[in-house]
Amino acid sequence: MTEEAFDVIVVGSCMTDLVSQAPRLPKAGETIHGHKFFIGFGGKGANQCIQAARLGAKTAMVCKVGKDFFGDNYIQNFKDNGVHTDFVGQTSNSATGAASIIVNDAGENAIVIVAGANMLLGSEELHKALPAIRHTKVLVCQLEISPQTSLQALRMAQENKVKTIFNPAPAIPDLGPEFYGVSDVFCCNESEAELLTGSSVGNVDEAHKAGQELLKRGCRSVIITLGPQGCVVLKVEEPSPKYVPTTAVTAVDTTGAGDSFIGALAFYMAHYPTMPLEEMALRANRVAGVSVQAVGTQTSYPFRKDLPAELF
Ligand code: ADP
Repeated sequence: MTEEAFDVIVVGSCMTDLVSQAPRLPKAGETIHGHKFFIGFGGKGANQCIQAARLGAKTAMVCKVGKDFFGDNYIQNFKDNGVHTDFVGQTSNSATGAASIIVNDAGENAIVIVAGANMLLGSEELHKALPAIRHTKVLVCQLEISPQTSLQALRMAQENKVKTIFNPAPAIPDLGPEFYGVSDVFCCNESEAELLTGSSVGNVDEAHKAGQELLKRGCRSVIITLGPQGCVVLKVEEPSPKYVPTTAVTAVDTTGAGDSFIGALAFYMAHYPTMPLEEMALRANRVAGVSVQAVGTQTSYPFRKDLPAELF
């Protein structure tokens, strides 16, 4: 049990990305030679936690990895980034979550994700982390683990008056109505907003409408991220939606931009609890905007020292 109070606790996924670059994608039964291979750290939960930590948040991760090389390696990655690992469980019953990714020269990809140990994260780990969850400033959840585990974690936070960010990603069409009531900030991207509302979300006006629909379902505020267009912010107490544009940058790799945004948002919610949500979203846009200017997922996430002082 830990007595420390964290700024941000993330309950979520860890995935090891195994990336092969090849001239083309292989056909069924075919073996081809690629020209580059690398291993990357991913998983939405871990990405968000690491971005928050790099901005200076005191973070802890609640997750499950396998008792294997990738699990050991992931725990070391958390430590290297200053993330507290007492609530990272290791199991012999499943492998660490992995994404086998093949990218061809045209930039197209084929991906197989095996969630593995992520799906074994449950009540036992949450109860171990409960003393820390009670005292954290912000708790963040997504849907790359069992939705029931995410819901239980969000409820624990709400019962203890801890601010919650829920990122319904990857989106599931039949997301239970109970998820909205436990979300202080319900934050998703365009395609997730589309799937959840059944309406097209291709521009700011449509995002405003989708946001209003999501807000009606019971969350306290909604953020819909819009890639290079920034995001929209809606709050229960202010009926008019706010558009928060972002600065134009030359994007080289947008993988994990949404997770960088959410990690940054969690940092701002923990450090500046009275800051208006639009201002936090504006700053999170700037952080995520830096992440898209470098290749990779966590490798592209900025540290506090790399960012302008006005963001802090
Ligand atoms: P996801 O990664 O979940 O698809 P988005 O594409 O909406 O999420 O991106 C999340 C955030 O990252 C955006 O709100 C924005 O702040 C930033 N972002 C993404 N793409 C760009 C881009 N091309 N230029 C500048 N900022 C970007």
